This record gives sequence, C-alpha cells and structure tokens, in this order.
Amino acid sequence: MDRKVRVRFAPSPTGPLHIGGVRTALYNYIFAKQNGGDLILRIEDTDSKRFVPGAEEYIMEALNWIGVSFDEGVREGGKYGPYRQSERKKIYKEYVDQLLVDGKAYIAFDTPEELEKAREEIPNFQYDAKTRGKMRNSLTMSEEEVKRLIRDGHQYVVRFKVEPDRNVEVDDLIRGKVVINSNILDDKVLYKSADQLPTYHLANIVDDHLMEITHVIRGEEWLPSAPLHVLLYEAFGWKDTMPQFVHLPLLLKPVGNGKLSKRDGDKLGFPVFLLEWKDPTTGEISSGYREKGYLPEAVVNFLVLLGWNPGDDSEMMNIDEIIKKFSFAHCSKSGAKFDYKKGIWFNHEYIGLADNVRLALLFHPILLQHGIENANPEYVEKVIGLVKGRADLLPDLWTQADFFFLAPDSYAEKDVKKRWNTETPRIMEELIGVLEGIEDMSSANAEKIVLDWIAEKGYHLGNVMNAFRLAVVGACRGPHMFDITELMPKEEVIARIRRAIEKIKID
Ligand code: GLU
Repeated sequence: MDRKVRVRFAPSPTGPLHIGGVRTALYNYIFAKQNGGDLILRIEDTDSKRFVPGAEEYIMEALNWIGVSFDEGVREGGKYGPYRQSERKKIYKEYVDQLLVDGKAYIAFDTPEELEKAREEIPNFQYDAKTRGKMRNSLTMSEEEVKRLIRDGHQYVVRFKVEPDRNVEVDDLIRGKVVINSNILDDKVLYKSADQLPTYHLANIVDDHLMEITHVIRGEEWLPSAPLHVLLYEAFGWKDTMPQFVHLPLLLKPVGNGKLSKRDGDKLGFPVFLLEWKDPTTGEISSGYREKGYLPEAVVNFLVLLGWNPGDDSEMMNIDEIIKKFSFAHCSKSGAKFDYKKGIWFNHEYIGLADNVRLALLFHPILLQHGIENANPEYVEKVIGLVKGRADLLPDLWTQADFFFLAPDSYAEKDVKKRWNTETPRIMEELIGVLEGIEDMSSANAEKIVLDWIAEKGYHLGNVMNAFRLAVVGACRGPHMFDITELMPKEEVIARIRRAIEKIKID
C-alpha cells in the first residue's frame, strides 16, 4: 500500500537559517503540497553545546515569512510529537539499548586523550573493524569490567558496529544509486552517557522512522551520512519503510568556486538569511532579505530555481504553478550558482506586479524613517502605482518618490546650469498662470493645455518642461511630468514653482 507522503524539515537551532536551508525547507514544502502530504518541523537540538537561544523562533518566523507552513511541529503539535529532540530523550535510549542487546552496537570508554594517542600512533586512524579490537570497549573488555566502569561513573559512548567490506547502496531520487564500501565508514558514536543524549545520526533515524517519514529531502552535505543511515535502518529491521533519499545540489558562490558562504554575502552585499539576525553573543547584525526590501514571493521564485528548472523557459511562477510543475527529475546533480542579481531582478518584477495597497503598507515604515508621518494612504498608494516599476528593492520606492512627500530644498546643479536661464523665471510665472487656469489636472488634459501654451508662445519645449521638472522634483528625474502633477495637489505644484523662482540664482 502506498504510504501518505510525509516529509520533514529538521534544522538544528545553531543560529539563523542559512539560505541553503531555506531552499531545503521550501522543496520539502512544495513536495508535500504536490502530493497531498504532510510537512513536519522537527527541531534537532541534541547537541546542547551548539544551541543558540532565539534560533528556533527565528527559523519559524523566517519560514513563515515566505509562506512555508507546517502540518506538524513544535508550534502546530501533532500526534507524532514531541517535535523537539531534546524532549524525546527517553525514546532514544530504548533504541540504543536495542542495538546493544542485538550486538549491533557496543560501549566504548576511550577518553579523548586515548583517541588522540591512537590517531598519532595509527596512520589514518578511524574507529572501525580494523582498530576497535585495540581500543577500550565492550568488545575488548569483560562484561564484569564494563559493568564496573559504568557503576563507578565512567563516561562512555555507544558506537555503531559497522560491518566491514559491505557495499552499501543509497538510492537517491536525484543522484540515482550511490554505492559505497562500508570500509570507509567509522563506528559512529550514537549516544553519549555524559549528556544522556543521542547524536544526530541516531536521533535522526529513529525519528524519521517513528514519524513515518517517506522522503528525506536535504542538502547534499548530508549525503556522506546516508550510507550509515541505510545501515542503521537495516540494523533496526526497518528497511522496508526506509524513506526515499533526495540530496539537493549545493548552493555555490556567485563568483569563483566552492560553497556559498556568509562571507560571499558580506563581500558582494547580498543577504544569506531571510530575516535580519542579531548574534546573541557578539551582537553582530547580519542582514536579511525581508529588511533589505525583498518581497517573499520573489525570494521563493528565485530560490526554487536554484537547482530546479520547470523544463520550459518559464521564470515568473507563483507558488501554485511551482507546486504543479515541480519534479526532482528536473533537479540538477551539480551545484547551483547563487546568482543574487537574478534575485534582484525577480524582486523588481514582483514589486511591479504587487498590489498598491499592499506595497503602501510595506512602504509605511520607510516613510516613517524619513520623517513622513501623516501621509494620506490613498495618495501613497497612487504614488506607489506610479513609481513601482522603477524599484528593485522596497526602499527604492522612496528614492523614486521622495519628492512627492518632501519639497526640494536644493536643485541639482548641473540641471540648473543646463535648463534654467534668465528667461526662465518669467516663463515659470506664466506657467503658474496656465496651471491656475486648468480645472481638470488629469495627466492627458493638463499635458495638452501646457503643450499648447508652449507651442503658441514658441518656447523651447525641452527647456520649459525641464525647468518645470526641476522646480517640482529638484532634479531632472522621475516619472512623466503630468503624471506627477496629476497626483500632487495643484497648490503644492504652484508653491514649488514659486519657491524655485525665488531660490534658483544664476550668475
Ligand atoms: N539536523 C540536520 C540539519 O541541521 C538535519 C539533516 C537532515 O535533514 O537529515 O540540517
């Protein structure tokens, strides 16, 4: 019987979620939705030394921002809980004991110093079938001694007993069958008595099994762990329900070779996190896509295409289209270059498509930053409608539209030089008269009247219009002049021309 698709995103709360992890979560979400399945958020916090306060909340908030929602998880609950591994301690112990009883794992007492010594003495030391016979463990010690050491409070670990010389097959939806020989695997630590916690490998496998996970979709960096995971499934007798592996291609540096890192982002000026993050120990702030002024749907569209293509040349796709088209068959094996400029392009396109009311809400804090507190919402919406096609990031809406909210207090020098001459003040006075006479300031009507006046007087069209623009905007930039004057209250337009006449001095 086909099982219901159940996938999980299983971050460790060791800091803010890196953009590669975000893409993993996104692919899990898309796959779950496409198959009518469940997406689970499992917090893998068994490594208490690497725990970072605030990271778990950050991860949830970040994914929520891009619309990745969970069916089960720490917040959502669910019948497979608890969903935080630190709350599942007891469960793991049982499974560790089962492996010990079955002889599939053993107890080892080697101290860090002893391991260090072995590394020095034995070339290419790894704890495995060749070396375990020389170490201090339950395979080389009597049962009595093992019991005594434990009773006396000696710390120990439980190691997985990897059988040598076996070909281990990992079946991966993107990579096909990957076969590796078990000789290269070491007897991984599954459990530590010191904190009574399992390691990542054991907890991950046990939980995937108990939570009835059908597909493990994760970054390529976890591929080296997969053979061990296959062996663990086998050791537990769970091979029949082993999840299908899917290892996603790495995200690569935008320039040069190698894995994308936070440093690339710092150097080239793009965020590698969805939301701004303040490091709780150093106080260092890392920028986020949200705070930089990206729209979440742009980030989603951009990210989903890093490693997957729809098989045709569609680029702009909303999440429903993506869910319809997505397939691991169209995921690449090789890494995907993190072309952040493409991300900016997507954002530009999505801002252009976004609803003005929504953009106005997002623009509100930017207005406040610039001291504009009481802007009329309808006015803001119209202004945004006029300039949104020119913005890459949300703050660009301000640089494009600042003059709608603040009258110029200076005038671009080179434009003044080019467009303002001794005749201009008189012509601008006349223009004021023309504007005063226009009742309907709609763009086309005002344009016709003003242009007729210029033609009738035989004025130089470019000079008059640019002087007009200079007076209202402060520089020769911005949207179509009559679109501006349609929105801006007429008294304001006139006041600005008056001020320019007064303030612009030419020698
Ligand atoms: N806790 C691992 C991580 O931080 C999970 C890897 C996996 O998905 O198996 O990514």
